[in-house]
Amino acid sequence: MTYNKNMCHMVMGSIENNMNYMINKNKSNYTEKLFEIKNLDNEIIGNIKIGSYGLLYYMDNDVDFLKEINKVITSIGIVMVLITIFIAILISNNISKPVEVVSNMANLIGDGDYDNKIDYDSNIVEIDVLIKSINNLSAKLEEQENLRKRLTTDISHELRTPLTSIQTHLEAMIDGIWEPDTERLNSVNEEVIRLTNLVNQLQNLAKFDSEKSKLNLAKVNVKNLIMNVVYNNQGKALEKNINIECDLESIDSYLDKDKISQVIVNLLSNAIRYTNNGGKIFISSYKENNNLKIQFKDNGIGIPKENIKYIFERFYRVDESRSKNTGGIGVGLTIVKSIIDLHQGTIEVRSELNKGSEFIVILPNL
Ligand code: ADP
Repeated sequence: MTYNKNMCHMVMGSIENNMNYMINKNKSNYTEKLFEIKNLDNEIIGNIKIGSYGLLYYMDNDVDFLKEINKVITSIGIVMVLITIFIAILISNNISKPVEVVSNMANLIGDGDYDNKIDYDSNIVEIDVLIKSINNLSAKLEEQENLRKRLTTDISHELRTPLTSIQTHLEAMIDGIWEPDTERLNSVNEEVIRLTNLVNQLQNLAKFDSEKSKLNLAKVNVKNLIMNVVYNNQGKALEKNINIECDLESIDSYLDKDKISQVIVNLLSNAIRYTNNGGKIFISSYKENNNLKIQFKDNGIGIPKENIKYIFERFYRVDESRSKNTGGIGVGLTIVKSIIDLHQGTIEVRSELNKGSEFIVILPNL
């Protein structure tokens, strides 16, 4: 092998350049050693300095390769940053758009406009749940608003009818058209009683609404509770010659005594109200599948099949003119249903027109 000095210098120079380019000389494990050169008489005739980069040194190919790798890594970094920015914009658009829609809808609701519904699918579960809640809220508020409007019209209508009748009767008597005899005064008195009854029922509803969520649970003997209500309503039943029959098990249960008493009063009053003279009412209470059941059965006028689903709605009356004569304003069953719901119970209805009705209250027997 021939020693090519120039070639050696070139290779060493190139390595030195590469090493300087890649690694700071001070930081690398570059070492230099100084050796003395002696002649045969052991005299120092010169020095030789040998530098070494350790085991690792870079050739031109290595440097090119590392430069390429650096370029690729930098490009990947830039692409990743761009992708991240793109995804961030996409996500923020996906969130901000529906949030804007929801916020607009909330503003509309705030202005009392409940007609609109959000019809937007964001593909984000949480946002979709929020949209659903806002739609529900709007529907509930719309329902309340309609109820409030209906309540005002119904109340004014209900109050106006007896008031007009009283006014006409009294005016006729004042003008001397009618003699104020007992019969006419009684008729005016009946209207006043009807009016008082109406106001009492409204007061009852308002009282119930304000105390709605409170339940005063206490141990109650259901048989005694029903017997008490029957006793207090016996007079009304006797007036119509209606026979009330009871089959009551002596059951103790944890209930809100006043509220369940109200349920029994309303169901029994309805049974008496909607049963013709000489009719029959049967009340039973018993335990079944860990539930307390109270059944009210009458052989009265019954409810048409298509009307049954509405009878628990506020101010709903199957036949307005019929109820006018009977004095109901259509809130009795609304109160019944709310009280039973509060007790986590249910109520079942079976009824046939001109045959009779059956209401069964089912309460968890606590
Ligand atoms: P109301 O004050 O008019 O009785 P309710 O809310 O108690 O109002 O009842 C709603 C409607 O359901 C009544 O107007 C009546 O038409 C019908 N209803 C309730 N109970 C009976 C029943 N036992 N027999 C026939 N119809 C009934």
